[in-house]
Amino acid sequence: MNPTRILRLTLISCILVIVSLISMQIQLSQLITQYLHQYPGIDARHLKDIILGLLIAAIMLLLFGQCQARRLYIVSLKLKKHHARHAHLLNKLPYAIAELDAHKVIHNSNDAFRQVSQLQGLLSIQQQIEQLFNQLEHNNYQQSTTLLQRFQTGEAPVISIEWQLHRSGNHFFLSGRNITQQLAEQDRLSISEKIIESTPIGVLVTGPDKRIQYTNPAFEQVTGFSSHEVEGHFPSILSSGKQGEDFYKDMYQTMEDEGCWQGEIWNRKRNGDIYLEWLSVTALKDESGNNTHYIGMFSEFTAQELVKEKLRTLAYYDGLTSLANRTLFNERLQCQINANTKKKLCVVFIDIDGFKRINDTLGHHIGDQLLVAIASRIKETCREADSLARWGGDEFIIAIEVSDSHRGISTFCTKHLQSLKQPFLINGRELSITASMGVSIYGDDANNTSELIRNADIAMFQSKKLGKNRFEIFSPAHHQELMESMEIENRLRLAIKENLIDVHFQPQVWQDAKICGLEALARWHDPVIGQVPPQKFIQVAEETGLINELSQLIYHVALKKFKTIQTLNPALGLSVNLSVSQLQDVNLVTTLKQITDAQGINPSSIKLEITEDILMSDLEQSVRNTGLLKEMGFQIALDDFGTGYSSLSYLKDLDIDEIKIDRSFMQDLLSSERNKAIIQAIVAMSKVLDIHCIVEGVETEEQLNKLIQIGCNNFQGYYFYKPMPSDEISKLFTG
Ligand code: C2E
Ligand code: CA
Ligand code: CA
Repeated sequence: MNPTRILRLTLISCILVIVSLISMQIQLSQLITQYLHQYPGIDARHLKDIILGLLIAAIMLLLFGQCQARRLYIVSLKLKKHHARHAHLLNKLPYAIAELDAHKVIHNSNDAFRQVSQLQGLLSIQQQIEQLFNQLEHNNYQQSTTLLQRFQTGEAPVISIEWQLHRSGNHFFLSGRNITQQLAEQDRLSISEKIIESTPIGVLVTGPDKRIQYTNPAFEQVTGFSSHEVEGHFPSILSSGKQGEDFYKDMYQTMEDEGCWQGEIWNRKRNGDIYLEWLSVTALKDESGNNTHYIGMFSEFTAQELVKEKLRTLAYYDGLTSLANRTLFNERLQCQINANTKKKLCVVFIDIDGFKRINDTLGHHIGDQLLVAIASRIKETCREADSLARWGGDEFIIAIEVSDSHRGISTFCTKHLQSLKQPFLINGRELSITASMGVSIYGDDANNTSELIRNADIAMFQSKKLGKNRFEIFSPAHHQELMESMEIENRLRLAIKENLIDVHFQPQVWQDAKICGLEALARWHDPVIGQVPPQKFIQVAEETGLINELSQLIYHVALKKFKTIQTLNPALGLSVNLSVSQLQDVNLVTTLKQITDAQGINPSSIKLEITEDILMSDLEQSVRNTGLLKEMGFQIALDDFGTGYSSLSYLKDLDIDEIKIDRSFMQDLLSSERNKAIIQAIVAMSKVLDIHCIVEGVETEEQLNKLIQIGCNNFQGYYFYKPMPSDEISKLFTG
């Protein structure tokens, strides 16, 4: 029965009893009064008091009973609540729980237990219970026993339950825990552990403080360090010292930025051996993004791999500068083309001006050192995204991406030109260089790697032509010019080989038209491309390195022909032009001397014409060469005077014998007072310095008269003679 009802009934019956007791007591008092009238010796009041006392005691007893009942009721209520909470709690538990008696009968169980029983069937549960009881009986002294049960229902995966039976007096508690996931996790972990323990890849784990926390057996195999030797240390314990601080800084920075780093690294083993390894480091982060561990995995390069690596380096990198080589550059450029970025892809070709001269004069050793320094200077000036390579010799190539093509290119090239202009300190010697750059733009004139590179090269040639130390962006006109120059080069090689270069002579005269000398001027009529002006083929020869061969041939032909003419007029002198690079050639002096001696001509009758540009390009070597040539008796003339620097200081330093006033002054000599004044000044100066002066390009009588008036007395020009073949010159003296 419901305890509340019992309590209510008890209360009502108590009240009824009390009421009936009180009415009983009233009636009893009346009865006693009537009855004791017969016995006057007995005091009725005493009897009544006794009955009243008894009544009060009975009421008290009833009230006490009622209080107890009430207390019992409250306790039972609390118990009920407690049970309910307990049941709720048990149902919430992820474990299956049941209470059994000594006869293995289940009395209480939670939801999880009921679920499990439903899943596998009560029979199966009973079997487990039976087995657990057996185990418990078998090990009499134990309080509890455990059993692992695996079962499968239908096609569902196998479920693993860990059952436990506890004894508590005559009661038994059965608990079952689903450990399917835990077992799978354990399996996985033990597989990973086995892999890490058995892999030939070295594994090293550090904490966030970068101190080593774990190493695997392969780590010990490779490095020779056991785990306990390195634990707590920094990975720098393996450092070989081959990589600088910057290397490690970059490495940690990349790890911070990208969460991982990969690359080759030289480390040191316990026995001191240095070895190359491929290292991959990953930073593990917690939910708030803080690094918790760094995991390093590495494998040592085997001898075979080292050879492969070496071959790869050889195949893709330049041995001297360590920059990428042509092959790698081409591959990278193709990738950039394929990437199809929104920016403009450009190829920049860089050629060092006059590098050959440095190599020839200072030796290849210095040349190589300079190239390495140039390579690193270019690399420093490049951005990370630029792809730089050594194209060969003194040529470098860079692929860049710019947003605003022309302005971007200009900024890039100017920055590099400026940077390369800063002197280099090689072997305690300061060397200054300049560079010529050519740029081609993908999509504008070139649509593949080879076109891009070729056009950049063409543009670079154009920069050279336009005065060096500058950059040019490719244009189709450059291409046309280059094609022409290439054809000239091919034909010129053949012409030199077959001695097809001729020399004409232009007489130089006194005021009275008497011939005092001749200027040898090279002539080339090619059977395929026809007549090529000397300025053009000499420039091509300069650019292609044919100049020395060509100049020797011209000098030889000129002297041979002059020898015949000189027999007709022994006082005659010969002027021969020297090109820019000739005067910087260390072998020039010996070559000229040999040819002159071979023809039996006295060097004093030869005047070597040099231009001011020659002086400016390498003053040191030019001064040395002119000094030596003068010592041998050759005379030196400064050609095209007035067009270049026209500095007076070197006229004396170089001990110049003659200056030739450039023919450009003739053009408006009659109308321009300025030109007249300049010629006047040059003539006056040459008199003071005791230097012979000759004016070239005299075409008219008026020009001649004006020049005579100014004070000139030596002339060369069409007004007198045009350049002529040697036999016609000979006729001038014979005929
Ligand atoms: P250059 O040394 O100034 O030679 C004089 C040039 O002026 C020659 O041209 C000659 O034909 C031209 N000339 C002479 N008188 C007159 C005149 O009255 N009016 C005009 N308009 N021109 C006149 P060319 O033979 O065409 O030679 C051009 C340049 O080619 C030479 O200028 C020289 O720099 C170079 N060159 C010629 N032959 C040789 C050579 O054997 N070796 C080297 N290195 N350069 C040479
Ligand atoms: Ca000349
Ligand atoms: Ca000249």
